[in-house]
Amino acid sequence: MTASAVRTGAVNLGQGFPDTDGPMGMLQMARRAIAEGVNQYPPGPGRPELRAAIAAHRMEQSGIEYDADTQVLVTAGATEAIAAALIALVEPGDEVVVIEPYYDSYAAAIAMAGGVRRAVPLRSNAETGRFELDLDALRGVVGPATRAILVNSPHNPTGTVLSSAELAAIASVCVEHDVLAITDEVYEQLIFGDAREGTRHRTLAALPGMAERTLVISSAGKSFSVTGWKIGWVCGPVELVHATKAAKQFLTFTGGAPFQPAVAHALRHELAWVERLRADLQAKRDRLGEGLATAGFRVLPSEGTYFVCADVRPLGYTDGEVLCRAMPEQIGVAAIPVAAFCDDPEPVRHLVRFAFCKRNEVLDEALRRLRRL
Ligand code: PMP
Ligand code: GLN
Repeated sequence: MTASAVRTGAVNLGQGFPDTDGPMGMLQMARRAIAEGVNQYPPGPGRPELRAAIAAHRMEQSGIEYDADTQVLVTAGATEAIAAALIALVEPGDEVVVIEPYYDSYAAAIAMAGGVRRAVPLRSNAETGRFELDLDALRGVVGPATRAILVNSPHNPTGTVLSSAELAAIASVCVEHDVLAITDEVYEQLIFGDAREGTRHRTLAALPGMAERTLVISSAGKSFSVTGWKIGWVCGPVELVHATKAAKQFLTFTGGAPFQPAVAHALRHELAWVERLRADLQAKRDRLGEGLATAGFRVLPSEGTYFVCADVRPLGYTDGEVLCRAMPEQIGVAAIPVAAFCDDPEPVRHLVRFAFCKRNEVLDEALRRLRRL
């Protein structure tokens, strides 16, 4: 969709990346690092000051203590962390549970590990629109062949923040069946002020019996608006992180040297900036949501991330993919069909994901064009 937006000059509300920069102090740190020669291979597990900052931040967020030397690994974005963890821990034929819709790299990474994907649906409640985890389906799918469950909250593409009850149900299934959890928490800082259970991120690892079986993954891209830096990390039990490091060693070995001290600075000193980003994004969510509703969409609730999903049926369309393929050419807006994140497209065929992490004038221009639908 981004290629299509570039080709047609469409406003790109498809791919989720912000169109403004991250905190100035962090950007300056990266510039300074380059000027001062931090340009060669950093240590394989990541620069010590970044690992220490990650451990301190996780402690603050979740109260869990991770040893910066043995329980924290810096990766090339969350994408590499997910791939390395799966390659490290999943043997051919092992089953990996994903929550559908799911981020597109999961299926590929599970396949690269030789694993078998088992999807459990998040379904939009007919009345409230909120996406809810199908707990019966979860219990039905987990068994002796299950090695791991991949959990993403706040959730791309739906903007759902899993509830305490949903997280507790996942934890109890993991403990009961001795299943590992890999949690993709890249949107951990982007939970909105009106989220039902508050803005504080809840990590599965903090639930009883979970710290010893959970790899927590996050990255700087979303928290600090630097999606192109690709600095991610994984934290967890020593043996699981050690195994992930062994896989990472032969994927990229290491990367992003001058960005690492800058991200360390951001984790320690730019959280007030992130608070402003969060408030700003909430206002953008509302701006886009209200505009989409005026244009005729049924807008579903979004409690976090930078995405909102909308039902295209009130406009007389039935297939979000057909609409998304036509929109760049026809009205000059790009968006993503939710079916692109699913094995079974049927239940979400009518849904389209819009990214709202864009300047207000960009959102307004997209809305002007969307009113032509
Ligand atoms: N997981 C999810 C749910 C995402 O939305 C993204 C961002 N596209 C990633 C992982 C990848 O993160 P990174 O850019 O740090 O590799
Ligand atoms: N996470 C972003 C999204 O879902 C972008 C990632 C990508 O382009 N692969 O839009």
